[in-house]
Amino acid sequence: MKPHNPNRVPKDVYLSFVSSLSGNRMTLLAGVIVHSATFLAVAAKTGSSVYIFLAVAIIAVFCARMAIFRLFDKVNNKDALSFAEIERWEKILVVGAAGTTTLLGIASGYAIFFTRDSFAELACIAVTMATMVSVVGRNYGSRMAVDLQTFSCCLPMIICSVMTLDFYRGILSVFLIPFWLTTRAMATGVREFLYENVIARREIASIADRFDTALNNMPHGLVMVDEENRIQVINRKACELLKIGAPDRLKDRDLGAVLRYGARYSFMDASQPELILRQLTQVAEGSLSRTLIHFPEGLSLEFSASRRADGGAVLIFEDVSSRVKAEQKILHMVRFDALTGLPNREYFGHLVQDYLTKHSRKRGPLGFMILDIDEFKHVNDMRGHVTGDHLLCAIAMRVKKMAGNAIVGRLMGDQFILFFPHARDRQVLDADIRKLHDAVQGQYEVDEVTFLVSLSGGYAVLESDAFAMDEWSVKADLALFESKSRFKGGITGFEREMDGRYIEQQKLKADLRDAVAANALHLAFQPMFKADGTRIECAEALARWVHPEKGSIPPDVFIRLAEEMGIISQITRFVLFKACEECMTWPEHIAVSVNLSARDLRDADILAVVSDALAHSGLEASRLHLEITESSLIDEPATVRAILSELRSRDITIAIDDFGTGFSSLSYLDTLPLDIVKIDRSFVRNIVEDTRRLKLLRGTVHLARELGLKIVVEGVETPEQLALLNKHRSTDLVQGYVFSPPVPSKEIGILSQALIRRTTPRRRSKVA
Ligand code: C2E
Ligand code: CA
Ligand code: CA
Repeated sequence: MKPHNPNRVPKDVYLSFVSSLSGNRMTLLAGVIVHSATFLAVAAKTGSSVYIFLAVAIIAVFCARMAIFRLFDKVNNKDALSFAEIERWEKILVVGAAGTTTLLGIASGYAIFFTRDSFAELACIAVTMATMVSVVGRNYGSRMAVDLQTFSCCLPMIICSVMTLDFYRGILSVFLIPFWLTTRAMATGVREFLYENVIARREIASIADRFDTALNNMPHGLVMVDEENRIQVINRKACELLKIGAPDRLKDRDLGAVLRYGARYSFMDASQPELILRQLTQVAEGSLSRTLIHFPEGLSLEFSASRRADGGAVLIFEDVSSRVKAEQKILHMVRFDALTGLPNREYFGHLVQDYLTKHSRKRGPLGFMILDIDEFKHVNDMRGHVTGDHLLCAIAMRVKKMAGNAIVGRLMGDQFILFFPHARDRQVLDADIRKLHDAVQGQYEVDEVTFLVSLSGGYAVLESDAFAMDEWSVKADLALFESKSRFKGGITGFEREMDGRYIEQQKLKADLRDAVAANALHLAFQPMFKADGTRIECAEALARWVHPEKGSIPPDVFIRLAEEMGIISQITRFVLFKACEECMTWPEHIAVSVNLSARDLRDADILAVVSDALAHSGLEASRLHLEITESSLIDEPATVRAILSELRSRDITIAIDDFGTGFSSLSYLDTLPLDIVKIDRSFVRNIVEDTRRLKLLRGTVHLARELGLKIVVEGVETPEQLALLNKHRSTDLVQGYVFSPPVPSKEIGILSQALIRRTTPRRRSKVA
């Protein structure tokens, strides 16, 4: 691209060339002084007044050009000029310049043809030629200017030389033609050279600009350093992330020094610059592919780097704070209990292990405690789960606050675990643990209710500091069990004998598993009588286990073990099958009642088991009663309700067992698919002596009757109790030693027959 046609030259370049025509004003001034002085000297030498006129004319042209320059200077915002306007200015400026050269040409021509004075010729031509040199220097920017000026000064000289008809002057005038052409070529050369440079510079600037935009708009921070760790390039994001000033001030600075400066005045802590540099070296050497560095205020940057061929390195880093936060959140969810914010069992284990590893040289006893909130379930039952949760959080907070340097975790439900670091001696540790246990009990204000909370505790003082979470838990658990069996709110330290009991219990569990697998349990049946004792309506199946060495194990004990071991549904299945079979051997009016455990009601498998038992025995569904306890209703009320409704729709009778021992309110009774309420024996125990107990029993009975439920009172032992119940018509059926203890199946038929025999003659005699 050549700058001949202004329209093909970028406008700004054209403008700058045209502007150059009004530059170098000092040379113009020097020129006009020399020109006018020369003309005056020639006038003095030759006495020609033409030169005085020329001197005045050249000064006038100079002044006119200066005025034009001023006008051009005053043009506001030249960048906004159009090509046509620039072209117009070019013409005006060129005309001014051509004015000077025309006068010089005329002066030389006049000297050649008219004056014919050697001084005049020499002076005028010399000054003209010298001026022509400056034409190249001043006016290269406009081809038109160069052409017009060389032409306007050479033409008068050529014409006048030819007019002299002198051979040698003619030759001289011919020489002016190559002079004119070379001057023109020189100016063009300069112009094109400059033009190419300007364009190249513009291109470099635009590439640099694009690179700069890309660099400063990338989401990553980028630092390029030379082999001495001096910053070559740093983008804005890098400065922003590291909070280290503006990019242009950091060029050629040492990266380490810049980071240290940043650390002093910003958020980094003092160790971080060294860390970054060390990691940068490692990453650049390839021993680390990328590295994550955490800064205060939740900022996390991930760095990667690569060595450059010249020994320098490129460091790229990214703000991964939100990713890290999300990961931390997930980690937190995995590690901490969502409700109380305490570490969960696994993470608690990690923390303890961490402590032990860090303090492996320390000596002294360690402590491990389990705290269990007493009767916490009742809070949930009575006040709802929301308040229950709030109370649990309040207790967790107090435990944490009082724990000092102990590590606290939530074990499950209403239990906390604590690990006490090395103490001076056993007494100190014992005292600390008991003090903590004491401090966390007492009043809690939650949801505008005051709760009096007691916690049972079990702890073990550890003899070895080898991590053994399960073993310690077992010890603390055994001690806790001891506390709970003595009195609520107590605390017990583990003793070796407890281990013996534990081992025994483990053995009992193994034996129970074998007994269940071998169908070695058997059943006893306790009849339920009409309140007047005239008839057996139903008999409750009660599981029995006679241990080969230990003899009879109470069902309370082995049923709890089976629940813990997860084999209760096998027992339920056995009892159901057996009970249905036995019931088939009894008189048709007697039903059989089977206990279901809370676990049986957690899934719908029980429906199939019941159907199978009925189908297998051929027993009518209406002769099967199922007993559930209040505790079964707590965990998954919707599932339990659905299962019970289904059973009931099949004509099976549902009884709620041990009624009154749970803490659920009576109000839920009417919402459940129930037929019978079995009032717990604790209600009956003192009714003869304590009229309040009797009132309580009557109230409960009244409510159940209102709801259309049938009543069985359990645990009636004495004729007095029975008489009192009958006096107040407080029950439909009676189950208790007063009529019969649990007996083998065949006794049920015998007992029933005996009753029938006893009542039938009486009726006959009445008739008679
Ligand atoms: P439960 O369901 O309340 O059964 C009644 C318990 O009260 C029986 O104790 C029975 O012997 C006892 N009992 C009956 N009349 C009297 C009385 O007048 N005075 C006193 N003090 N006690 C009386 P048992 O057989 O020891 O059973 C204890 C508990 O074991 C049962 O209480 C029941 O919760 C559980 N259980 C027994 N067999 C099974 C079973 O097959 N499955 C399930 N899930 N639990 C069972
Ligand atoms: Ca029962
Ligand atoms: Ca009962």
